[in-house]
Amino acid sequence: MDGDLAPYAASPANSRGRRHAEDPPAYRSEFQRDRDRIIHSAAFRRLVYKTQVFVNHEGDLYRTRLTHSLEVAQIARTVARAMRLNEDLVEAISLAHDLGHTPFGHAGQDALNACMREYGGFEHNLQSLRVIDKLEQSHADFDGLNLTFETREGILKHCSVANARQLGELGERFLNRTQPGLEAQLANVADEIAYNNHDIDDGLRSRLIELDQLAELPIVALQLDAIRKRNPGMNRRQETHEVVRALIGEFVTDLIDTSRRRIEAAAPQDIDGVRSAAGPLIGFSDDFATARTELKQFLRDHLYRHPRVAEMTAQARDIVTRLFDVYMSDYERMPDEYAKRARDSHESGGKEDGARVVADYIAGMTDRFAMQAHAGL
Ligand code: MG
Repeated sequence: MDGDLAPYAASPANSRGRRHAEDPPAYRSEFQRDRDRIIHSAAFRRLVYKTQVFVNHEGDLYRTRLTHSLEVAQIARTVARAMRLNEDLVEAISLAHDLGHTPFGHAGQDALNACMREYGGFEHNLQSLRVIDKLEQSHADFDGLNLTFETREGILKHCSVANARQLGELGERFLNRTQPGLEAQLANVADEIAYNNHDIDDGLRSRLIELDQLAELPIVALQLDAIRKRNPGMNRRQETHEVVRALIGEFVTDLIDTSRRRIEAAAPQDIDGVRSAAGPLIGFSDDFATARTELKQFLRDHLYRHPRVAEMTAQARDIVTRLFDVYMSDYERMPDEYAKRARDSHESGGKEDGARVVADYIAGMTDRFAMQAHAGL
């Protein structure tokens, strides 16, 4: 496969490797091995019961973190192949990018972050990294999954300067403001394309938003108009699918065209050229960047802040906060393994380190498990 890659793509040959040395895989590339370890992880399986926007029990048709991650991977792989970037790597990053997410989506993350304010905060990107570097236990010789530098780089989308200082080589780009590889940049944008569009789809299907309301946005109006002219007499479901499919297609096409132009202009010779470029090379044209901002704004105003979603958000905040308070006041209310880790960490590193174990425990919960734990208090 490497022979087909662009010279500036990531490849096992130019990889910065794993933290613990291992023999190369016999039948797979290094990045395929990363992907396989991610798919076999416990954290990956839990994604199926974690909220994207709608709490998992609200209906079986809505996206969960798992289906979201699959959609991200699918979009990112299409673009990677079209641009001769490393498809295996972009798939691994996409599948792992939300492993650190708390139950109840952003509401859960915000609540846990508030709980952890005095103890270093909680950030889901950093938690995803913690899951694959430390919390997953599947190897006898080391903690975590021992993934390649490039997969880990892609998972860590954002990071505060204070946290970056703790992360060694991986944190460097946040301190000296360099770019990650193109596959990391791509997974990040594919994440946005996926959630903007599937949230529209879920929003329409739940009837919290309506198509004609969405058509306030120029990009939607344009597509909807063309679709309706082509197919008079569609039912609502067909119309929804046609619009969402057209939007994803438009964004992906613009992303490929714009990124190709930027790469041509910057002319990176290899992945180091990508990393030292003045800005990200994967991105949208100005028109589509505007359309994306308008779409996000619309979703924020009409879906994420919809009273029905807000009600769920408030409940989620209460559950996470209560769980945190109870476990902090008595580590023994967590399962033995976590209670012991919290006690040991507290003893060696103080209350902050104990709180981190409590946060690990809560972040690992599925929506359902968190609700049961809360009911059991
Ligand atoms: Mg995501």
